[in-house]
Amino acid sequence: MNVLVINCGSSSLKYQVINSDTEEVLAKGLCERIGLDGRLVYQKAGCEKEITDADMPTHKQAIQLVLDALVNQKTGALNSLEEIGAVGHRMVHGGEKFACSTVLNEEVLKVVEECSDLAPLHNPANLIGVRACQELMPGVPMVGVFDTAFHQTMPEKAYLYGIDYDYYEKYRVRKYGFHGTSHSYVSKRAAEIIGKPYEELKTIVCHLGNGASICAVKNGKSIDTSMGLTPLEGLIMGTRSGDIDPGAMEYLAKKENLDLEGVMTILNKKSGVQGLSHISSDFRDLEAAAAKNDQGGIRALETYIYRVAKYVGSYAAAMNGVDVICFTAGVGENGPDTRKGVCDYLGYLGVELDDEANQVRGEEKVISTPNSKVTVLCLPTNEELAIARETVELTRK
Ligand code: AMP
Repeated sequence: MNVLVINCGSSSLKYQVINSDTEEVLAKGLCERIGLDGRLVYQKAGCEKEITDADMPTHKQAIQLVLDALVNQKTGALNSLEEIGAVGHRMVHGGEKFACSTVLNEEVLKVVEECSDLAPLHNPANLIGVRACQELMPGVPMVGVFDTAFHQTMPEKAYLYGIDYDYYEKYRVRKYGFHGTSHSYVSKRAAEIIGKPYEELKTIVCHLGNGASICAVKNGKSIDTSMGLTPLEGLIMGTRSGDIDPGAMEYLAKKENLDLEGVMTILNKKSGVQGLSHISSDFRDLEAAAAKNDQGGIRALETYIYRVAKYVGSYAAAMNGVDVICFTAGVGENGPDTRKGVCDYLGYLGVELDDEANQVRGEEKVISTPNSKVTVLCLPTNEELAIARETVELTRK
């Protein structure tokens, strides 16, 4: 069966068509600047990328353009749309309602809509993508794969904040965590690579991309993760602050004469390694600057790495040990210096990095020495494949 995987944001949409039998990607690409001027990127497997300026005032029109490209007589990856057996949608926030992926019907979509309060930027965009696909592909089953679902196994002591319990009962204020599809895929794949049962391992997954989070996976279940009610908590990210004293917000608001929205804009968009360095949110720029002894670049990288190492240590404590540490996503897969920086803090756990193996980029590889007490892996994530697998599982008749 072919699965169309859709990751729909507010002004962009990423897609892939995956043959679920061979797990081959038949075509992939994205629509950018939806509602503005519009740009379609389309790439059939084994062919050059095609980039077209295309009018796409709405998500429905964007998806229509993707479908047209997929069945284009010359460059299409499919003969007809009937070759798409199901659509898998990446959904951001499932609140406490979804502990696993779900076939999307009206009842489910209503619940997703109710969770929109928790992710006002993401859930409405996800829903628009689902509605557009329903209109353009009537009768094709759709599955929602939630970023929060994998973390629903966290125990109460991990997900509660130290605030009045009434706020949890009334508004469900708690840690939910994100990147669940990635943490689940990577931790399972790590067990396969090292040939040990998933259910017996203590794994820490460091998903270090533009957004970044860490997850402690014990016996195949997420028991803690660094992002919270929103994706702002935890690690220092590209432009997000991660953990910060909430009192600093009041202090900042008074000093800079800002309202709550103004403070949140600072924490979401003007912080992280971008804010610390005054250079860029991209690690390639930071590493280049640090190599020239730029103090902003050095400061940002050192602070970022220190935060990651502290989280790894706290999750090793939470699990009473760790067998495997995985590095994934843009920086985790492509940043030997960041991986080394983190592992240099972890000698006390018996982590021993193989400096030569650690030069790998974007490939699955064990990067610890044979003597290391903890196996360290560079392990590219594949959220689209994970979504396609879940979609097939739920729609196979
Ligand atoms: P992601 O959100 O997973 O796509 O990750 C994006 C981030 O990965 C970018 O902002 C870069 O900082 C980082 N990245 C991508 N390629 C490299 C590379 N070759 N070296 C270091 N960092 C990289």
